[in-house]
Amino acid sequence: MKNILVLEDEATIREFIVINLQRAGYEIVEASTGEEALSIIDRTPTGFSLYLLDINLPGIDGFAVCRRIRERTSDSGIIMLSARSQEIDRVSGLMLGADDYITKPFSPSELVARVDALYRRVSGKFEHLERAGEEFKCGRFRLIGLTRTLVKDDEPIELTQVEYLMLKLFFENPDVAISRESISDAVWGDGYHNDLKVVDVNIRRLRMKVEEDPSYPRTIIKVWGYGYKWVSKS
Ligand code: CA
Repeated sequence: MKNILVLEDEATIREFIVINLQRAGYEIVEASTGEEALSIIDRTPTGFSLYLLDINLPGIDGFAVCRRIRERTSDSGIIMLSARSQEIDRVSGLMLGADDYITKPFSPSELVARVDALYRRVSGKFEHLERAGEEFKCGRFRLIGLTRTLVKDDEPIELTQVEYLMLKLFFENPDVAISRESISDAVWGDGYHNDLKVVDVNIRRLRMKVEEDPSYPRTIIKVWGYGYKWVSKS
């Protein structure tokens, strides 16, 4: 289902988003407050493919809505809408489980490109059934394509689509330094992301799921000035 829940309190921005995404073939449900978004989410058990969440709202904010969505599912894609100056907001949103962010103001083409890219990642789970049975093993970890799950020792860990794609790249290239650009290309598509910070933040989030002590990572190692490496014997 190409459906998206758009949460934005400013009517003009919301209409701009809705018109452009409808034109791109998406079915949109609108919410103008966090409270309204949560009640729509409660009434929609099948969920949405994607969520566009404005961060700054008068009541319940976009972070809280993001957290609630991630408590229910890791299958959907989440894009946060943030103000240009709020770097900290973008990092916080990604740490809470968002996959991407769009900085205001944005053009229709930027909006649709970001949404299309994430929709492809999220719907890939269902479109590429031939790959669904794929499974990767690396040291004490197993990555299971069908359920998008990481198994650490015997403990299953749920992954978002973005986290799954990142881990898949690492598991296919164990002990190899992979550049941030290559990670970005593999996860979001070729040359799509010009902000590599999004890679760093997603790595931080992955470390919280993977590492014994995320402050002293031993499995996902930073390669200074280049990228990251998955250490298979960690
Ligand atoms: Ca707002």
